[in-house]
Amino acid sequence: MRIATFVAGQSGAPQAGVVAADDTLAPVTQLVPGAPDSVLGVIDAGPDLWGRLSVAARDARGGTPLAAARLLAPIPRPRRNVFCVGWNYSEHFAEGQGARGGRGEQAELPEYPSLFTKNPGTVVGPDAEVWHPAPISDQLDWEVELAAVIGRGGRDIPADRALDHVFGYTIGNDVSVRDVQFRHGGQWWKGKNFDTHLPLGPWIVTADEIPDPQTLRLQTRVNGATKQDLSTRFMVFTVARIVEELSRGMALEPGDIVITGTPEGVGFARKPPEFLKPGDVMELEVERIGVLRNRVVPYPGAQAR
Ligand code: MG
Repeated sequence: MRIATFVAGQSGAPQAGVVAADDTLAPVTQLVPGAPDSVLGVIDAGPDLWGRLSVAARDARGGTPLAAARLLAPIPRPRRNVFCVGWNYSEHFAEGQGARGGRGEQAELPEYPSLFTKNPGTVVGPDAEVWHPAPISDQLDWEVELAAVIGRGGRDIPADRALDHVFGYTIGNDVSVRDVQFRHGGQWWKGKNFDTHLPLGPWIVTADEIPDPQTLRLQTRVNGATKQDLSTRFMVFTVARIVEELSRGMALEPGDIVITGTPEGVGFARKPPEFLKPGDVMELEVERIGVLRNRVVPYPGAQAR
């Protein structure tokens, strides 16, 4: 099941909808009368509602065409910071594994994942504008990532049961301001937390359709040119292991979002380095999920509130 947050037509309130086989959006509240009208509400309601929705969506037809709807991030405003994993793919590790017949050079790998967060105000949806940070910085970069959305919370979740806690998967773009990222005492947080710098979407594909999240191809295209292209099987820390580590001593809650790291091919590491400019279009594609497209626009400047 693909579940999205959408606005029908030019106005109206955001609501949760399931994408039907005819590429129309069926409102959750029509599929199951009395169901919550938000994706967070659906997740909170638990597996009984997820199952009923999935069954009802199979025969749904004739809703709002995707082309006539405006999609927001599937969870437009997460309740908590989005959890992020830094440096979770290693091209070198993958090559080493292949060359050694499947055994990696363990000593080169970190024992635990690098973790940081992006605040809820960074989240934007499909086709939303991503702000170029000039004059604060010229070093705007892309990062395609598989995002896991927690369905059942829990603390001290063991890796072998972790995927049972995942509601579904979407695409995240961990947009980064590189010079800011590296100039705050080794803490990446500031350079990862500019407004609009976490596009999410276009929808959540429920976990029953992606039983193994370590088999998905991820790609980034900038103005049509491929920049990143790798499989999630090259993650150093699997989704299950990440959930295990995050939940150690800290309860994960329904609706929490975890973005799981990006493969090689980001702009600042290219030779010569490449950074995004206003007008550039990023298209992030993850197999079995879809395409998340966002355009870079000039920074709107100071704002008083
Ligand atoms: Mg990242």
